[in-house]
Amino acid sequence: MMTNIKPATALQKAKIVATLGPATSDRQTVRRLIEAGLDVARLNFSHGTLDDHRRMFEMVREQADDLGATVGILADLCGPKIRVGHLRGGQAKLEEGARFTLTTQEVEGDETKVSTSYGQLPLDVRPDDRILLDDGLLELVVRSVERDDVVCEVVIGGVLRDKKGMNIPGTPLSTPALTDKDRRDLAFARDLGVDYFALSFVRRPEDVVEAKQLAGDIPVIAKIEKPEAVLSLDAIIEVADGLMVARGDLGVEAGAEKVPLIQKRIIRDASLKGLPVIVATQMLDSMIRNPRPTRAEVSDVANAVLDGADALMLSGETASGAYPIRAIEEMAAVIAEVEGSELFHKNPVRPRIDEYSFSNAIARAAVEASNDLGLKALAVYSETGHSAALTSAARPRSAIVAFSRHPHVLRRLALRWGVIPVLADWVEGVSGVVAQAEQELRRRGLVEDGDDIAITFGMQDMSGPGRTDVLKLWRVRAEGDKKGGL
Ligand code: PGA
Ligand code: MN
Repeated sequence: MMTNIKPATALQKAKIVATLGPATSDRQTVRRLIEAGLDVARLNFSHGTLDDHRRMFEMVREQADDLGATVGILADLCGPKIRVGHLRGGQAKLEEGARFTLTTQEVEGDETKVSTSYGQLPLDVRPDDRILLDDGLLELVVRSVERDDVVCEVVIGGVLRDKKGMNIPGTPLSTPALTDKDRRDLAFARDLGVDYFALSFVRRPEDVVEAKQLAGDIPVIAKIEKPEAVLSLDAIIEVADGLMVARGDLGVEAGAEKVPLIQKRIIRDASLKGLPVIVATQMLDSMIRNPRPTRAEVSDVANAVLDGADALMLSGETASGAYPIRAIEEMAAVIAEVEGSELFHKNPVRPRIDEYSFSNAIARAAVEASNDLGLKALAVYSETGHSAALTSAARPRSAIVAFSRHPHVLRRLALRWGVIPVLADWVEGVSGVVAQAEQELRRRGLVEDGDDIAITFGMQDMSGPGRTDVLKLWRVRAEGDKKGGL
């Protein structure tokens, strides 16, 4: 039972996450996304019904199985995202200098007022606070607070549309980390069996801990999009299972000019702890409308790869854009180009993970051997995925092939830098492991006669993560040449 061959992109290190939506909601398109190189599909709970998400979930699983591909599914919880309510005619024009009231009362909005779903707003803001609407395109300043109403002056006007987001940079909000909707969505997605959660608008490590308690053993990725979260980054890294550089809201709240350096810092700090990092938002934004990305977007993708991100994410490009498949192909092409360079292999952070375990010692030794000997591949037998994650974290030049008998472990590894997940039967003994690894690497065209590889696995009978205790170096040889082997 060893299927899931991933074609062309098998050697790609940086992974691709793509958001599903109306533009990618039929079988054929999902199939083509996977064929084009999708590693993890994102269900965005800010949009769509639970039925939509269930349908997409089933479609991804079905198409991945059919193609023999390993595709993870990430459920992205909206968190305490604040939005404006309904406007008469769906939109209103806000004039610079005019008064505009945000109210917690249910009203039909117009050019003088709009309701908000966030009931605490009048308690949380003060005169002179800045309020940004629609990703910061419109700006208000609070003039006064009168019971349910926050009376503002329009600083930057424009057309406001229904349900657009609202950010209040620099003002601590009293909203809980998980709304009632988040709790319902989380329970729903957990029962479906998603592979990852992402939590939006994390402010404190406690927010992640709360989500993790509800998520069971499903890992939770903290979306870094609030300045508070950047300030508490070290503490959040201690509790999160991964991070997302959520550049959309982060740019609105912290200022766009702060984002590039925060991105580099998040990738570096998380990598030092072995956490996967996703770089998200506007990576190929213009491909929502155009068949080709801008040069600046291509550079952005290339730089995220050079920064050492585990995965790059597409949002509107695949969820609602005109060219979802091309967006993935374009991203894969940029990744391949960068990863083919010397600069990439000289550059990446090579973190030294500080963990006392056999697995960590073995992973580090394997990567060291791989780099010294120029090994073709590292075959990592990983029951829980931990050994494969540690090996990935050390950023070896060679391919990392993770063998596991657990599909859910492999789907989680799909997000990890450089890991090629392989579903494999359980085999006993060194010779069994070596034979299986060699056969599978050959079948994938990763090795041929004369190539040297390393294989890591656990022999001592221990349970749980950290049980990898053997590093086996091996020269791949032709059948007849195997006398005196194992
Ligand atoms: P979102 O998160 O797409 O859920 O808003 C990502 C971001 O803010 O960049
Ligand atoms: Mn966001």
